[in-house]
Amino acid sequence: MDIKKIQEILKDEPKFRIKQVYQAVFAKFIENWDEVTVLSLALREKLKAECPLEIPAEILESADKNTVKAAIDYDDGKVEAVLMRHGENRNTVCVSSQIGCLLGCEFCLTGQGGFERSLNFYEIVEQVLFFARYLKKYNERVSNIVFMGMGEPLMNYEEVMKAIRFLNDKETFNIGARKISISTVGIIDGIKKLAAEPLQINLALSLHAPDDELRNQLMPVSKNNPLPSLLKAVKSYIERTNRKVMIEYLMLDKINDSSAQAQRLADLLKAGLGRLFMVNLISYNETQKFKTSPAAVINNFKKILEREGVEVVQRFKFGRDIEGACGQLAKQRAKNKTG
Ligand code: SAH
Ligand code: SF4
Repeated sequence: MDIKKIQEILKDEPKFRIKQVYQAVFAKFIENWDEVTVLSLALREKLKAECPLEIPAEILESADKNTVKAAIDYDDGKVEAVLMRHGENRNTVCVSSQIGCLLGCEFCLTGQGGFERSLNFYEIVEQVLFFARYLKKYNERVSNIVFMGMGEPLMNYEEVMKAIRFLNDKETFNIGARKISISTVGIIDGIKKLAAEPLQINLALSLHAPDDELRNQLMPVSKNNPLPSLLKAVKSYIERTNRKVMIEYLMLDKINDSSAQAQRLADLLKAGLGRLFMVNLISYNETQKFKTSPAAVINNFKKILEREGVEVVQRFKFGRDIEGACGQLAKQRAKNKTG
């Protein structure tokens, strides 16, 4: 499916007509041009021939159907998007922003798989559209979006923002900015730009270590984004948006999970951010050389943070049976390619 092509073909149509088509495709989620009866037959035939509405994808559902993974096919590769159904019409789609990732974090399957390219805004929108259609069968809608799939969203800033504006538009998906979250490895420039946007998007920071030394080992890009400046940028984000920031902390066995590290983390965040943040302790899905911390160690870590007055949650695990959790999506190349 090619959203740009739709825009091109309709460019000479009156404004209201274009609006009707957008509503049909991106608000009513029709899958066949014949359903758009406001268009002339000739135009429908042209659209059918030149912009088919199909989204080619392979889908994998967890046993309880609460997690659904889709590998969406582009000409030159695949990306994965994941739907997480939390009940009561709460449906979160985890989207990818790039095919692969340049940043090579040690613990991340995507990062270790290399980089193909960044996605265009309509390829990001397509991932949400895929699940919007899926949910239509259940009479439900996509309620939340998290940029926690493949890639670093702030390294593809313009297209990610275009996608967010499109998804936020009342005439199309109408997903509130407050229901959209960007997770970043900590790109300072990107966080600053995001803070200047008029939309109140949620920010999640993948911190994963309480000091630069360990961060630099785990996440090479941290060397150019050191903690003092990074936390300053995040603090400005909080002040500017008044939104609570999520600090993501992966629990890696014997790497970043000691009592001393918990204490250092609490001190760092209290001094660096002050207010409006919470820590999310994430169990590691063992895709790389690391192991996840044992439950007792996670509990101890959590207690220390709580004792220090830091708000802590533990990410609910979704879809382990299909390896569908966000953050462990591997780059897959098109079948006709090698390497
Ligand atoms: N590039 C962005 C967003 C994509 S990764 C970022 O790094 O934040 C989304 C989250 O998944 C990040 O917090 C990342 O550290 C985490 N993650 C990566 N590999 C993981 C794994 N194997 N298990 C659990 N979380 C993982
Ligand atoms: Fe890229 Fe995020 Fe994976 Fe790091 S954790 S390699 S930034 S996708």
